[in-house]
Amino acid sequence: MTLTLMWFRSDLRITDNRALAAAARRGPVVAVYLRALPHWQRHGHGANPLDFRARGVAALKESLAGLNIPLLHRDIDDFREAPAALLAVARELDADALHFNHEYPLDEQRRDAAVVAAFREAGLEARGFHDAVAFPPGELLTGKGDYYGVFTPFARSWHRQLGSEQLALSDTPAPQATMGIAAEALPELPALEDSPIDGRQWPAGEGPAADRLERFLRFRGRHYGRQRDFPAIRGTSELSPYLALGMISHRQCLQAVLAENDGSLAEGDAGLVAWVNELVWREFYRHVAVGFPQVCRHRPFQAHTEGLAWRNDDEGFAAWCEGRTGYPIVDAAMRQLLATGWMHNRLRMITAMFLSKHLLIDWRRGEAFFMRHLVDGEFCANNGGWQWAASTGTDAAPYFRIFNPTTQSSRFDPDGIFLAEWLPALADLPAKARHAPPRDLLGGVDYPPPIVDHKAARARALEAFKALKAD
Ligand SMILES: Cc1cc2nc3c(=O)[nH]c(=O)nc-3n(C[C@H](O)[C@H](O)[C@H](O)COP(=O)(O)OP(=O)(O)OC[C@H]3O[C@@H](n4cnc5c(N)ncnc54)[C@H](O)[C@@H]3O)c2cc1C
Repeated sequence: MTLTLMWFRSDLRITDNRALAAAARRGPVVAVYLRALPHWQRHGHGANPLDFRARGVAALKESLAGLNIPLLHRDIDDFREAPAALLAVARELDADALHFNHEYPLDEQRRDAAVVAAFREAGLEARGFHDAVAFPPGELLTGKGDYYGVFTPFARSWHRQLGSEQLALSDTPAPQATMGIAAEALPELPALEDSPIDGRQWPAGEGPAADRLERFLRFRGRHYGRQRDFPAIRGTSELSPYLALGMISHRQCLQAVLAENDGSLAEGDAGLVAWVNELVWREFYRHVAVGFPQVCRHRPFQAHTEGLAWRNDDEGFAAWCEGRTGYPIVDAAMRQLLATGWMHNRLRMITAMFLSKHLLIDWRRGEAFFMRHLVDGEFCANNGGWQWAASTGTDAAPYFRIFNPTTQSSRFDPDGIFLAEWLPALADLPAKARHAPPRDLLGGVDYPPPIVDHKAARARALEAFKALKAD
């Protein structure tokens, strides 16, 4: 008899899951989940992402129960233990194959290669599937055969080569015969250093993810192009946590767009086309992680920025983390992150640029802070976004383009509505004054003066980048 172990990681769904569908075609399936809490904590994952993941696994267990697929749970300290832990389960159950969907950061690739090698050595099959991208990294290359380091030609190539094969949804397995193996209880998440945000903000699982997609496309998708940059408007999909942990697939998203947009992803409604473009960014950064693995080793994509003279400024960093820089748009954004585990994309760009340029603090500190707090924390997108903002990455913002936070605030929150929501102390000021509150208008309001002067900070950052060029 064939029995396949399906190892779930960041693909916590039964719908359109490449590895699971292939496993079910072979015969009976048992699911396994490895929880490596100490490993994740050592790698800076905080309470929000860990809690969302735990709730996602619980939801997956329920979905799998509907297919009579039991989910086994193993705790390990470090992913180096993964080969032995998985082999032990395979031997226990007499399974002859292991399936999983690829993850692309370097450590995850190495972990998976070790698992495949251990299974081979034991005479068992272990197979990875490319599920979270339309094209496996290495399939879209420049004319010279290199990985793309610039987004626009990557996106062009992505659209040109996309066909029915990449878009086809995998079958959800039919319920299998019950097999006398019981699903295991999922242990509670132990108390962590921080406590997670209220999970009701981000209900986990495939159902909530599908609802979000439907609501977004029905009510906001066509306005996306016009609304996506305004944090006071709920103009984006807020699907990132679900995509990051695979509670929904990018194919489900793309198929839903095709249905709404007369069968096209590249033409037709401008809002929907702009949204598809963001899904292509997501894929781009995954290819970058494989093609330029230095980014997975805490290195800048652009080697010449390696020697940038970042400032050691713990006080500045603490003020940024806690949302007390005296720049309301930065502070409101950081408070949104701390309270909801999510931050609007425009604000991620503004806060990341403020830390790396105005404070000239190493972007890697900000990257780690985001990973600790974001419910959607995902290495490739987070690293790509940070390196973009710090002008060290692919397709990066040119070093001389330094957002003026006050101008950004007036432009993207013109009525100061977002500012008032997250900085209630400023809500009584006239809307226009909220972007850079004059001290005399503040009266007794407890709000700090700007931690740095924009012009001076800009000049300092330019100097640091120019010094680099002179080297
Ligand atoms: C400094 C910085 C850090 C970031 N960290 C993360 C992260 O850890 N995880 C994460 O998923 N995204 C990250 N992003 C990208 C982006 O900000 C979020 O994906 C987006 O804000 C999520 O909101 P949404 O789901 O409403 O997005 P929508 O605008 O509805 O976009 C749809 C989906 O496309 C993907 N996407 C959108 N923008 C990007 C982008 N610029 N790069 C890659 N994928 C994108 C996401 O999966 C998103 O859910 C980061 C961006 C920056 C500038």
